[in-house]
Amino acid sequence: PDAPVGSLLAGAAARYGDRVAFQHGEQHLTFTGLWNQACRFANALRDRGIGQGDTVALHLPNCLAFPVAYYGTLLSGATFSPANPLLPPRDLAAQLADCGAVAVVTYGPVAKALEGTGIGTVLVYQPAEHGQLDFEAFHADSDDTPPSVSIDVARDLAHLAYTGGTTGRSKGVRLTHRNVVVNTLQYACWGSGCVPTVDDDGNPVLDQIGSEEEWPIRLGTGIGINLTPWFHAMGTIGALNVSVLNGGTAVVHQRFDPPSYVADAERLRVTTMGGAPALFAALLACPEFHAGDLSSVRTITSGAAPMPHEMINALRRRFPDAVIAEGYGLTEVTMGATLSPTWRSGVRKVGAVGVPTFDTEVKIVPAEGGEEAVGPNVPGEVCIRGPQVMQGYHNRPEETAAVLVDGWLHTGDIGVLDDDGYLSIVDRKKDMLLYKGYNVYPRELEELLISLPEVAAAAVVGRRSPEAGELPVAFVVRAPGHEQTEAEALLDAVNKQVVPYKRLRELHFVDAIPVSAAGKVLKRRLREQLT
Ligand code: ATP
Repeated sequence: PDAPVGSLLAGAAARYGDRVAFQHGEQHLTFTGLWNQACRFANALRDRGIGQGDTVALHLPNCLAFPVAYYGTLLSGATFSPANPLLPPRDLAAQLADCGAVAVVTYGPVAKALEGTGIGTVLVYQPAEHGQLDFEAFHADSDDTPPSVSIDVARDLAHLAYTGGTTGRSKGVRLTHRNVVVNTLQYACWGSGCVPTVDDDGNPVLDQIGSEEEWPIRLGTGIGINLTPWFHAMGTIGALNVSVLNGGTAVVHQRFDPPSYVADAERLRVTTMGGAPALFAALLACPEFHAGDLSSVRTITSGAAPMPHEMINALRRRFPDAVIAEGYGLTEVTMGATLSPTWRSGVRKVGAVGVPTFDTEVKIVPAEGGEEAVGPNVPGEVCIRGPQVMQGYHNRPEETAAVLVDGWLHTGDIGVLDDDGYLSIVDRKKDMLLYKGYNVYPRELEELLISLPEVAAAAVVGRRSPEAGELPVAFVVRAPGHEQTEAEALLDAVNKQVVPYKRLRELHFVDAIPVSAAGKVLKRRLREQLT
């Protein structure tokens, strides 16, 4: 369906009405309540002269104001630009200038720091100080009839989202309403036996055509605790739009505390668990997670970073009856391009990130360059073509031209397609090491380290060497009870399993591996420690 993003919520409000869409502590938003508030917020923006052609930034942690401001912005015709709530004011100001935001929703101390930056409308979502615009008061008395806006879904920008900045500076990614709605439908339909269609009002809805026995999982239904940051693609598409379209209830936990996560999951009888591998690593290390009654869990989804094989196997042991699915994507494809098959006869291969979503093509090209696809089982750069691929980077024509070739997005990830068309991610191209002309993929060494009982977490980076190029160096967090483990023992255990050029040269013990808010290992921080 060619419909704007706001229509996902319009249809959901009509279908699910008083069902709880979002819950945070004692507060909740029903689908109708969210729709009414989002319309009020849209009208308040329009009354202030903000609408089509403008960008509204959201610099918020997960909270009930987020979906209101998100859908409200899109219903007003403006473009939504999410900012990591942990961004310090200076970096935030730079990102706001880059995206050209005319308004931002943020919280108290940050709002003060933004004074004088030229942003016309700064809305404060927690009690505003004198002179500041309070988020709630801003739209409380506005009209709740949806504004009439004519959106060109193929051209008008819905999201101006920023890449994670894991490998360098974050880049603004231009995504239209069609990009966002298509990627939502690609995941909302996944393995459900449904096809997308429209309801009587032209809003997207799913039509069940396959039997629920063969197609037992519909992502975004049921109840789940939400920890994925909503400013990140996995949050905006996976946790907001897919959940809203399919009528799920998302319980917000702003801070991740594994024991209270488990306690709530038991109490609420959650049906779904989703997040980056870092979430599951912390849960697996928490005794309550193993002791609690989590028999209500039906689906486990992971993405954003590689899931170690050991982790998948541990989750399979913990949830023998649940479907564990791993997806792969990047901001440049709105959110995602693949997922493990979740249907009854679908094979879920450990280590693979599944198969492409509908209308999506994946090819592997030589890592050194070129557009000709290599054969199955040969590693190379992953390229993606489909309706979820971005329009380009914001204000970066050269970087856009370097990654978008004839509609194919060059992802910068090294991957391999097997004989059945399953994609596995080998590593990021930028993280690959070159040792005397040989390619060394840190992920292979990380997998070997993590499979050792003495290791809780590991990351491998390169140390520059004039003679060899780059030498593989490991950073390791010892597992509980293995505080005495020596570096030599771990080096031996890994190095005897690999060919000589891949051998780890050094191993450093650390208390934690640095990860971003989206759960990605920040290797540049580790490299800095080597200089
Ligand atoms: P930047 O491009 O600014 O360095 P980033 O790559 O972290 O930031 P995102 O769009 O948030 O920006 O992340 C996308 C990347 O995350 C992918 O290119 C890939 O390297 C990694 N990724 C996502 N899902 C998976 C997965 N299932 N397995 C392995 N890697 C994954």
